[in-house]
Amino acid sequence: MIKFLDLHKINLPYQAAFQEKMQQVLNKGWFVLGDEVKAFESNFAQYCGAKYCIGVGNGLDAMVLIFKAYIELGKLQKGDEVIVPANTYIASILAVLQADLVPVLVEPKLETYNLNPDLIAEKITSKTKAILAVHLYGQLAEMNKINAIAKQHNLLVIEDSAQAHGAAMGEVKAGNLSNAAAFSFYPGKNLGSLGDAGAITTNDDALAKVLFALRNYGSEQKYYNEFIGVNSRLDELQAAFLTVKLPHLDKENEARKSIVKRYLTEIKNDKITLPYWDGSDNHVFHLFVIRTENRQALQDYLKQNDIETLIHYPVPPHQQKALSQWNSLSFPITEKIHQEVLSLPLSPVMTEEEVGYVIQILNQY
Ligand SMILES: *Cc1c(COP(=O)(O)O)cnc(C)c1O
Repeated sequence: MIKFLDLHKINLPYQAAFQEKMQQVLNKGWFVLGDEVKAFESNFAQYCGAKYCIGVGNGLDAMVLIFKAYIELGKLQKGDEVIVPANTYIASILAVLQADLVPVLVEPKLETYNLNPDLIAEKITSKTKAILAVHLYGQLAEMNKINAIAKQHNLLVIEDSAQAHGAAMGEVKAGNLSNAAAFSFYPGKNLGSLGDAGAITTNDDALAKVLFALRNYGSEQKYYNEFIGVNSRLDELQAAFLTVKLPHLDKENEARKSIVKRYLTEIKNDKITLPYWDGSDNHVFHLFVIRTENRQALQDYLKQNDIETLIHYPVPPHQQKALSQWNSLSFPITEKIHQEVLSLPLSPVMTEEEVGYVIQILNQY
């Protein structure tokens, strides 16, 4: 059986270091917002090339808190419109809603699955104040174009970098390509913790100051509250585990890419559309997503051959029950993608034999 993602195997090389960290934290007896959170924040900010990293509870909170911080700073107001991709994991859209802002959905490019910058301008109104760019599947959104549009219309740009740790445009990494970026360290992400965890990166002094308070009851000084904050702190132990794994992220992303190179050159089947990649570091392949017209048949066939696949994602946000106000809207490209995508097994710990087997079975389909 070839697993879609073997989280046990992925974390196996780090077990001894995790246990050592765990013992250190136990010995210190300081379990919330301690030295490990500070150290990870400093390491991850440096990794992304950003001035600040604010550790939070998860990726969704990271995005919600960015929006709430801009509201506190008066740069956004409740009811303002935010451009978001129609084709994204629903968290991106939920974050906008949870901050009492209004998501305005924009179709992707079929080639990259990412937000189509050419369709943004027509959706901008006097209420539009921000663009949320999502680096879907690990591939950077077209940030040069998005930032140019934002500059022209005086909009904030926020990155949903939950799937793109380490993706880079030249020297500049995800997390440093906009005003502020949200990361998730959910266990299955390229940099994954052993539970829930997230972070925000930014170069903005004022924003960072508000965010450090917002995640901790809106308090900078204990028992003195400046904002209506939340409890969404990065867990001390998760921070310690992430510090163990961060130095290996680039190597793990490279391992993903060498598998992807084989998939892209060796999978040869007219029924399958392979993902677009320009070969640069702008993609860290969180997921390797193919498209095929009769997805169910292909998924069943792969399952019969002991290959596990997943669908990211089966139902587009605008067709979810939770967002019934949008159920009658039509986003044909987004809908086509949701009907046809299938994610193949991909992880830094897959063996050459496993990769070869997946290729062989796909070519026989
Ligand atoms: C995982 C993910 C999130 C949410 O992260 P959590 O840590 O699960 O809250 C947000 N956006 C995208 C694109 C994701 O893949």
